[in-house]
Amino acid sequence: MQKAVEGGRLTPAEGLELFGCRDLHALGRAADAVCRRLHPEPYRTYNIDRNINYTNVCAAVCDFCAFYRKSADADAYVLPREELYRKVEETVALGGDQILLQGGNHPSLRLEWYEELLRDLKARFPRVNLHAFSAAEIWHFHKLNKLPLREVLRRLKDAGMGSLPGGGAEVLTDRVRKAITVNKVLTEEWLQVHRTWHELGGRSTCTMMFGHVETLAERVEHLERLRQLQDETGGFTAFICWTFQPEHTALAHLPPAGSFEYLRTQAIARLYLDNVANVQSSWVTQGPKVGQLALFFGANDMGSLMIEENVVASAGTVHYLSLEEIKRAIREAGYVPRQRNVFYEYLDAEPDTASRGEAAGRALPVLQGNG
Ligand code: SF4
Repeated sequence: MQKAVEGGRLTPAEGLELFGCRDLHALGRAADAVCRRLHPEPYRTYNIDRNINYTNVCAAVCDFCAFYRKSADADAYVLPREELYRKVEETVALGGDQILLQGGNHPSLRLEWYEELLRDLKARFPRVNLHAFSAAEIWHFHKLNKLPLREVLRRLKDAGMGSLPGGGAEVLTDRVRKAITVNKVLTEEWLQVHRTWHELGGRSTCTMMFGHVETLAERVEHLERLRQLQDETGGFTAFICWTFQPEHTALAHLPPAGSFEYLRTQAIARLYLDNVANVQSSWVTQGPKVGQLALFFGANDMGSLMIEENVVASAGTVHYLSLEEIKRAIREAGYVPRQRNVFYEYLDAEPDTASRGEAAGRALPVLQGNG
């Protein structure tokens, strides 16, 4: 632990050793020390966006997913444009600057449909960033349209795709992926989508959904793959992890991972991913209290206000926080809340002075890395 606190790089064996540590407080102190070294500023950030699932029709089958439908299902949908526009308008009215646009791997929509979708949205909302399509969808477009991956990404970028979300990674080992998904992007392919996007000058986030069929060594392998790609391209802006939500899925028999598992995994990720600047709390899946605690386990960001989150909601676990509640959670932790965009640029010109006073009046907890 101390090695990472001092800026040293953990080996995979050392990462795995940390998963043997049951001292959650020590892991938290170490991750917090790294977080404070990387982010000494008195701010912790959040952003405001909306997750719009433009379709729930999906050609893949993932055992952990309660969201997807087949084309013939009665509740299969592709969102009409007017509904999409209304959702974006609502987001902008709430101060949002971004849409997280994700869907299933639709079996028949061609690349032109997605280009038109992006162009239409950009024409109406030029200032809204389109954080669009997971690597799984992009790989699906590449296969379905029989076009080179680079061409698919370049065309989507030209049409208005602003950044690439890190979804669809789950755990990046093919053993895990083959055990819980069918017809979905494999490890190298997921990485290749992000690599190519970064080579085109794009930025993306990276994620890990854990607590299902993976081993602890596979969690480390996942982190190692992300770290290697980040060494190569530097294109990841942030890492986000969350625990698998089994309710209503084909893996409902698995016991859900608890807060201990979430916090220690995030803390280890903060220690391991020495080249990824930001870690987001996942209060949407963990709830507001653990989500707030995550700020002391390596996270420097509360993630998104998330006006809508259908995928997690389908699995039965979803938490809501208002903007004021997010800000309060940050203030209570002793920091000044600031709104940021996907590139971690502050959107508010000046820190909220009321919250600055509150944070200044509260002594920051003295936490030291040890172990
Ligand atoms: S997780 Fe994504 S790819 Fe898998 S079934 Fe659900 S919508 Fe399809």
